[in-house]
Amino acid sequence: MKRLQGTKVQKINSEHNTVIELNDIFIGEGYFTVIAGPCALENEDIAIRTAKAVEQSGAKIFRCSLFKPRTSPYTYQGFGIDGIELLKLLHSETNLLLETEILSTDHLEKLASEADILRIGSRNMDNYELLKQVGRIQKPVILKRNMSATLEEFLLAAEYILSVGNNKVILCERGIRTFENYTRNTLDILAVPALKELTHLPVIVDPSHSTGKSSLVPAASKAALAAGADGLMIEVHPDPPSSYSDGKQSIDIPTFDKLMKDLSEMANLLGKKSFTPVLT
Ligand code: PEP
Ligand code: MN
Repeated sequence: MKRLQGTKVQKINSEHNTVIELNDIFIGEGYFTVIAGPCALENEDIAIRTAKAVEQSGAKIFRCSLFKPRTSPYTYQGFGIDGIELLKLLHSETNLLLETEILSTDHLEKLASEADILRIGSRNMDNYELLKQVGRIQKPVILKRNMSATLEEFLLAAEYILSVGNNKVILCERGIRTFENYTRNTLDILAVPALKELTHLPVIVDPSHSTGKSSLVPAASKAALAAGADGLMIEVHPDPPSSYSDGKQSIDIPTFDKLMKDLSEMANLLGKKSFTPVLT
């Protein structure tokens, strides 16, 4: 990949790994960090209940999207910016870090004032102005791979964030579009080790959007850990069938708890430095 030479995302040697530290939570090589929460925030009760449950199971970061990029403008678009109050409440009720998607620079100041991590979704991976503006905020950024992006395009999108002086970028493989339609997308599992040899940035996997099916989420999660991912972002809902969005791929709380126990055992075997052991 000639175009990566001389870039800030490029890995220089096998020791060159960026580990992001945020309030004693580490994201990067040697760690396995789980982000979990509903596809989108729906109301206070579900948000608090889900956050407390995933925290109890060992998640460190709560997925709390206020804005949803939806294919149809007539489906649930998210809580909107007023949900900032809900983020404040989540911060006071739990010790979780909060991560949320940003769709527009109009919301940058407010979202950055409360969220710990900002997410740029796959549809915005090529929105270079958004990448630069979010990069300037100096908060960790989760950048999701566009469903049709090559690894080179993905890394060059990340380069936009690093180019403005922010190297706290977490790459998220979320499945790519192929001819297969049994799954919502095709999890490009080899993107994980490939990215880890090309770049020093942490790499996580989204087993929910990459499969589209809750039954496949545990296997995809374990495959990601085995392939060398530094973490996961999983959609969890207390009652998936009633979820406003992505209920089919959201796992319920007992399934999440069991998955965390399995991942914990695997992470120990793989010698990960940090993965909250699940004792219950
Ligand atoms: C999401 O994580 O909420 C999402 C919409 O996923 P993606 O951007 O990968 O489609
Ligand atoms: Mn979703």
